[in-house]
Amino acid sequence: MHAPTNIVVQKYGGSSVADAAKIRLVAARVARTVRAGKKVVVVVSAMGKTTNQLIDKARLISASPSRRELDMLLTCGEREAMALLSMAVTEEGLEAISFTGSQAGILTNDRHSGARIVEVRPFRIEDELDRGRVVIVAGFQGVSYRREITTLGRGGSDTTAVALAAALRADYCEICSDVDGIYTADPRVVDAAQLLEAISHDEMLELAAQGAKVLHDSSVEFARRSGIALWARATSKDGGGTRIDFQPERDRQVAGVTGQKQLIRVKVRGGAAVEHALQIIEAASIPLTHLDLEGKELRCWFTIADVPDWTAVKARLEQVLGDDVDFGEEGAVSLVGQGIGSNPALINKARQTAVGAGVPVEAVSVSPLRITLWCEPAMVDPLTRALHAAFCE
Ligand code: ADP
Ligand code: ASP
Ligand code: MG
Repeated sequence: MHAPTNIVVQKYGGSSVADAAKIRLVAARVARTVRAGKKVVVVVSAMGKTTNQLIDKARLISASPSRRELDMLLTCGEREAMALLSMAVTEEGLEAISFTGSQAGILTNDRHSGARIVEVRPFRIEDELDRGRVVIVAGFQGVSYRREITTLGRGGSDTTAVALAAALRADYCEICSDVDGIYTADPRVVDAAQLLEAISHDEMLELAAQGAKVLHDSSVEFARRSGIALWARATSKDGGGTRIDFQPERDRQVAGVTGQKQLIRVKVRGGAAVEHALQIIEAASIPLTHLDLEGKELRCWFTIADVPDWTAVKARLEQVLGDDVDFGEEGAVSLVGQGIGSNPALINKARQTAVGAGVPVEAVSVSPLRITLWCEPAMVDPLTRALHAAFCE
């Protein structure tokens, strides 16, 4: 723990700034925090569905646009939101200034469309806070050491916020969205999902990595490393929410259930083919979520949203590997909880639950923090509900 700095970082997601009225509500929430005596840095996402719309626009021009040009395009979304929010905060009678990720000192590696933050130099933010201004920062973006504009992957504004909170030694960081915290499952999928008061970094990281998009996984890594107090809260409320930092007392081992519907599976057969496939995957920096390499057979999975130029990468795999490669779309549902993957009784209960729900399970994989059942994408929601009922209700 460090001495209090009185600095607070608040992040508002796309649905919270979807139109002018919502931007005004966010500005009013920011103003209440300032009037309570805090120095406020706000990180903002693109308005509503802007990022998806920009991707659709790019696809009208090219089936496989270059990642660099996509980054140039997508960063416009957050830039629009930051300027409008800065105007709205000014209308609240406060002084505000907006910065792009580059101006805010977010330095990344040189990987387009999935860059990692390597350093944060928040000097300009500190100067403006000292002048009494609210600083609004465009989320999801940074600049590489080659001065290229980069993006942090879908949902990356959460990571901008926590990285800034760590660099500024903020008293806490709030991730504000349309849900009032972390639930035992996506409340849009499971009606009976329950709000968690707290969750450990490890469990939250696993939930995020396995598809719970309520927090970007790297944001949880930053919080764990820096010890920043992290909250997931509703934009429409000033308090409450879920604190991400410790394992609360719980009478069950499972923290939550999460699903992924849009996984691409690549299957490769043959020693030389596997070598070539791994080289192509490395050259394309595909962030794999799972990999299974046994003898001369490779199976690996990734989320389609993480690979915007998948059409081009797939064509390359087909060109080099011919009949030795095939592709499929799969779904996966994961139970997450400390130690559950090493408990055979829980693994069997999960399998039996799927059988009882009439969901064919194609494979099971475990790690200390999770049990993952693989199934058809269309079965992800029914299986999530069945596992939630069996383990969390
Ligand atoms: P934002 O645009 O504010 O970043 P996101 O859409 O990225 O918001 O994340 C919030 C959404 O995450 C919620 O609307 C909810 O449907 C979904 N979600 C998935 N899993 C969970 C969970 N375990 N708890 C809460 N929300 C979840
Ligand atoms: N606007 C970006 C996205 O839609 C980043 C974010 O929302 O965090 O993925
Ligand atoms: Mg998000």
